[in-house]
Amino acid sequence: MLTTLLLEELQELQAKNLYRSLRSLEWAEGPRAILNGREILLFCGNDYLGLSKHPRVVKAAQWALERYGVGSGSARLISGSTALHQRLEEKLAEFKKKEKALLFTTGYLANVGILTALAGSNDLIVMDKLCHASIIDGARLSGATLRVFPHKNYGKCEQILRSGLHYKKKLIVTDTVFSMDGDVADLKRLVEIKEKYDSLLIVDDAHGTGVLGDQGRGALENLHLEARVDIIMGTLSKALGCLGGFVAADKVWIDYLINFSRPFIFATSLPPMICNAAIEALQVLEEEPDIRHKLWANVNQAINLLKKNGLDIGSTESPIIPIQLGPEDTAVRLSNELLSRGILIPAIRYPAVPKHHARLRLTISATHKAHDIEHLAGTLRDLLH
Ligand SMILES: *Cc1c(COP(=O)(O)O)cnc(C)c1O
Repeated sequence: MLTTLLLEELQELQAKNLYRSLRSLEWAEGPRAILNGREILLFCGNDYLGLSKHPRVVKAAQWALERYGVGSGSARLISGSTALHQRLEEKLAEFKKKEKALLFTTGYLANVGILTALAGSNDLIVMDKLCHASIIDGARLSGATLRVFPHKNYGKCEQILRSGLHYKKKLIVTDTVFSMDGDVADLKRLVEIKEKYDSLLIVDDAHGTGVLGDQGRGALENLHLEARVDIIMGTLSKALGCLGGFVAADKVWIDYLINFSRPFIFATSLPPMICNAAIEALQVLEEEPDIRHKLWANVNQAINLLKKNGLDIGSTESPIIPIQLGPEDTAVRLSNELLSRGILIPAIRYPAVPKHHARLRLTISATHKAHDIEHLAGTLRDLLH
């Protein structure tokens, strides 16, 4: 029986502490939610600025909901392209200092859509080992040769490119902020390498957008490298609090994606209300910088307290703080103990991270209060010592 085989595989996952199941939150406000009738404190989402519930952002969604309805009705190239999609793309292009931008229905689809459109069987994709799953999946689906270099080992990246000069196109892909470790790629180094080996550089700024840079424009802002990176991918789903992915690039790349990127062509477009919410989220980001300042104050408070309590938190430079635990059962147990004390931080395990590199991926938001962070650090100290 087929179902017996499936059950066996699931049991095997359970035995290895790799089994996953869903939890349903009933209400959420700021970093607080109700789970199974009990109030809990969240330290795990990606809504770093709390914009998913910002009154201006919610109101913008409501305004568009009344006028455009719930769904867009089709893909962009049919009738699913509205004035709000266009306005958001114009705003994103300006925000990322590129000629044009293009929306995808999710960030996952954006990465798959970029790589499958731009790379094929005569091409080489070179990526950091810790790139997001959507980049790995896009690279595999593209049919290109995929080579991976050890995390932030750019010497090895160059070596791969040197031995791959015969490929037609060479694409270097990296996360800016690594989603499970919180550290940041050396983008200046990658730009130099890309230029030296006549390659394309694609950066995934999912966790930099809204968070890094003097104005929250992302990882490239303070480095002034926008013009030297070919493709900047980002999401609306993390610090901007909405949903969707986007690509910012020169016009020719965007025209190419509109014509060749299957996840763009064959998926229903974002609901217009989400576009209007994201437009407002970008506006809030610009007009209310105190939210970002509060986020960074919280991040610094958390890093200092956790280090003081002797926790191994790697080398994070972002609101993503990994608590490295190693064995899967240790991570699952700690996560369960935290939950019994009212704090939700799921255990992150293979395949999100390598086997036996399990961790708690805790994330900080501008909506946390100083005493929330003290409570977290104190609870972790009590549980780990
Ligand atoms: C979350 C994430 C994505 C996918 O974005 P979604 O909008 O959630 O589909 C892509 N890349 C990175 C680095 C991410 O963290």
